[in-house]
Amino acid sequence: MTNFTNLPVIAMRGNFFFPNVRAKIEVARAISVNAIRFAIENGGRFFMVSQLDPASSNPKGAQDLYTVGVIGEIVSVDNATEQSMTVTTRTIERAKITRFTASDNLFLADVETMDYTCNNDASSDALYKQTIEYVKRLAKAEPRLKIDIKPMTAEHIDYLSFTNVVANEVVTMLPSRQDILEESNIDVRMEKICAYTVGQIEFIQAEKRIANRVKKQVEAGQKEYYLREQMRAISAELGEDANEKQEYLDKIKKSGMPEEVAKKATRELNRLSKMSPTSPDAAVIRNYIDWLCEVPWTAESEDNKDLVLARQILDEDHYGLEKIKDRIVEFLAVMQLTGKLNGPILCFVGPPGVGKTSIVRSIARALDRKYLRVSLGGVRDEAEIRGHRRTYVGAIPGKIIYMMKQAECINPVLLLDEIDKMGKDNRGDPASAMLEVLDPEQNFSFTDHFLEVPYDLSKVLFVCTANATDDIPEPLLDRMEIIELSGYTELEKIEIANKFLLRKNLVLHGIPEGAVEISNETYAKIIERYTSESGVRSLERQIATICRKVALKLVANPDEKIVVTEENLHEFLGLEKHRDDMAMGEPMVGTARGLAWTRVGGVTLNVDATLFQGKGEVQLTGNLGDVMKESARTAISLVKSLADEYGIDKTRFAQTDIHIHVPEGAVPKDGPSAGVTMATVIMSAFTGIPVSNQVAMTGEITLRGKVLAIGGLREKALAAYRLGITKVIIPKDNANDLEEIPQEVKDKIQFILAEDIKTVFEHALIK
Ligand code: ADP
Repeated sequence: MTNFTNLPVIAMRGNFFFPNVRAKIEVARAISVNAIRFAIENGGRFFMVSQLDPASSNPKGAQDLYTVGVIGEIVSVDNATEQSMTVTTRTIERAKITRFTASDNLFLADVETMDYTCNNDASSDALYKQTIEYVKRLAKAEPRLKIDIKPMTAEHIDYLSFTNVVANEVVTMLPSRQDILEESNIDVRMEKICAYTVGQIEFIQAEKRIANRVKKQVEAGQKEYYLREQMRAISAELGEDANEKQEYLDKIKKSGMPEEVAKKATRELNRLSKMSPTSPDAAVIRNYIDWLCEVPWTAESEDNKDLVLARQILDEDHYGLEKIKDRIVEFLAVMQLTGKLNGPILCFVGPPGVGKTSIVRSIARALDRKYLRVSLGGVRDEAEIRGHRRTYVGAIPGKIIYMMKQAECINPVLLLDEIDKMGKDNRGDPASAMLEVLDPEQNFSFTDHFLEVPYDLSKVLFVCTANATDDIPEPLLDRMEIIELSGYTELEKIEIANKFLLRKNLVLHGIPEGAVEISNETYAKIIERYTSESGVRSLERQIATICRKVALKLVANPDEKIVVTEENLHEFLGLEKHRDDMAMGEPMVGTARGLAWTRVGGVTLNVDATLFQGKGEVQLTGNLGDVMKESARTAISLVKSLADEYGIDKTRFAQTDIHIHVPEGAVPKDGPSAGVTMATVIMSAFTGIPVSNQVAMTGEITLRGKVLAIGGLREKALAAYRLGITKVIIPKDNANDLEEIPQEVKDKIQFILAEDIKTVFEHALIK
């Protein structure tokens, strides 16, 4: 035993070196830097000992350190800065602390070397060989450890050195490393090294097993798809696909498809069974057979034959529309008697929101048939109606067959919405496909490109809707019976709101009946100030808005009774949107109010004329169509021909330019019915007589001043009525149409029947 005094202590975090090892150490903690400095100044020796807790960055004294460590010396200083030092050291001897002093960021210790014992016999030799064997195995199990221990060649083996070298290389975990350092019996040391090594080998193997398992799990996900595919192939190989075939055969039988179709389906099925089940072609065939089996072939729902009940249902759903309901009931009666549907196709025509769609739904309810709707607006491609051939990737049947599958029966009511909005381009003409759908002579064997087999549509009740008949292709129009629905008067709208729309929305919003009260005056205000339409769509939206607000109030206070009045309406609907633009101000020279018919109902159309000094030129603006331009020129010529009668100096025409404008400039306008209005503004401009602001007019004119009949009188009259106009001038030839006009409109408006333009001037120009 040798004693050393006052050796500076280097506290190692984690590892120390066994004796006889040359190694570089780098220190950065002040306590270690000080120790190295102290060593350099005092002969180069130091004592290296491990911290109990390698994670601690600041050991306070002996209590934080092991007592057994290794004496070492500094060989060279490789690098030194204020904060850190790198030195090459050599370890010499194991020793243990006998006295410890901690001062001013420096630990000093007195230490004492320790003796060893060893059997030095055959058992030592056996242990020695065993240790080498295990170390080799460890090196193999974990090549990353880079253990390279060579057996000693000397005659007399130095077991102590051997344990030092091996432990230094192999035993990396601190508690075991320290334990072996402290062990003084060299045979036991070797046993301990063996035990540690075996433990490590097992640990590494376990680690590998776990890593393998994780890897497999990751791969499993990717493999699953592949395996499934293989499974299908295997089951096909084993003949298990016979199940699929049998299932399809059963389906074909159950579907009730006609014999020809069943033959085709079976042929396809046979093709399928010869194919690889995973090939894309097989998927196409499966899809095709699925369609054949899922389209209804025979399933038919029973019609309601009770016509009284049918009428009752129609009445339940819609206010008024008496003639239309009568027509529907007649239609149903004929259908019942003949057992066929080969009458004309009904087509409801009218502005939006007048109930065209909803009356068709009501027909389905009255008949107790399934209702389906196909929107034809914007359909330009024949394939949308008739489907794509199967050779196209992702081909599907057209809208008609698609709907039949949804219907699940062969006799639904199929609404063909917006048939007038169907387009036409280079991808074929959808109208010709529609013709085949609607023509009773043809539709018992409708061909869809995808389905390939004829499909019987003759039991389907087709009903169409359109805003106007002009754009319905002639051959289609030929097969239809047009039923016109026109806009509603204010009173009718109030009734509809009161009896239908409010009730419907109360249910939709979960509001108990009687919780809201809306008076007729309030409805009138909603109609006048918050909507501007022929139908009731926007009115329904406003009522829905009120219901939402009411629902909110009821949640807060369930017993509240809410009364919507003219005064508090703005709380529900916000600011008024439409002001009465009757206030055209004073009667004006050169401005008159015409009436026009549009797809969304009747509207008023102002026409302005202004004169300038010039050369008799005419300027027409406001996006006018050709027909309207012509009627403007006719009107000018007409006024010229009447110059004498109305006291206009004829020479003025040659020195005056006329500008006629029809606002709003961006909206395209056409048609001859503004003729009388044009003539009136020009006459007013030349004579300087103002046009009454209470008058609106419509009518075509001839060069001789005759007023010719126009269309859409009812819609035009309703538009005038909405604006509060009191006098409407119409062509005498339209007198019969006055019957169509609701009494409440006739009560408010005086209709003037004009045969000649002079009658128009007489009523429009203020004398
Ligand atoms: P369209 O198809 O003519 O554009 P809709 O059928 O969509 O109009 O009608 C809009 C709304 O107005 C629907 O909720 C409908 O029930 C309602 N409606 C229209 N006319 C009536 C009526 N005469 N009686 C009751 N509700 C009506």
